Amino acid sequence: MKRYLIAGNWKMNGQSAANADLLAAIVPHLSAARPLDVAVCVPAPYLAQVQQICQGSPMDWGAQDVSAHGSGAYTGEVSADMLSDFKPRYVLVGHSERRQYHGETSTVVAAKAQRALAKGITPIVCVGETLQEREAGQTEDVVKRQLAVVIQQVAHCVSELVVAYEPVWAIGTGRTASPEQAQAVHALLRTQLRAATAQADRIRILYGGSMNASNAASLLAQADIDGGLIGGASLKPHDFLAIVAAAQAQ
Ligand code: PEP
Repeated sequence: MKRYLIAGNWKMNGQSAANADLLAAIVPHLSAARPLDVAVCVPAPYLAQVQQICQGSPMDWGAQDVSAHGSGAYTGEVSADMLSDFKPRYVLVGHSERRQYHGETSTVVAAKAQRALAKGITPIVCVGETLQEREAGQTEDVVKRQLAVVIQQVAHCVSELVVAYEPVWAIGTGRTASPEQAQAVHALLRTQLRAATAQADRIRILYGGSMNASNAASLLAQADIDGGLIGGASLKPHDFLAIVAAAQAQ
């Protein structure tokens, strides 16, 4: 049976008081029985706050990025060592907003995944095609190429990854991949992972891109969709909890 992961991505939103209010509206409503995993990936300055609020609760926490470097003259960067002080379970790597606005290549993303794994932090590796790439029939090539670089870099640790398929055209746009479109890409990512590790079936492949309270159930019902990476809806307690409930009901 699948163990779903529902991970929120707050992006660059929140401040101390608002974070506390948001978590107070979500965390007490999560079941401690945990037939699934739930997490929030938060801006680095709030890791300490979120750790303090969430530790001992069913809510895990994560970061949104990690440096590809170990330490040194990389002003503004946050290393995996630094993150590990706050005991995050996850870190997002290769989110399309990082690839798009910060020029992150798949090679950089792979190095970040490797740094995280070395510190016992699970990288959530984001892959996805732009609208232009989809329309040009390049979806399969693009996502497989993005994932291949990470698979090659992390070698024997592939089974420790979480993968998130996030079509760029669906992120923050209100436009969601249909369950069939998402499943088709998840299935090919699964096949690619199977070629890399005998444990591919335990790797969670999340769908991300305008997942919300009304479309979550049909997406999560797909054979190779093992959870969601949730942006906008993770800032709305009612919606986030509805997505968690949809995963719990599968
Ligand atoms: C995301 O930021 O990873 C994301 C999926 O955003 P949204 O849910 O808002 O599309």
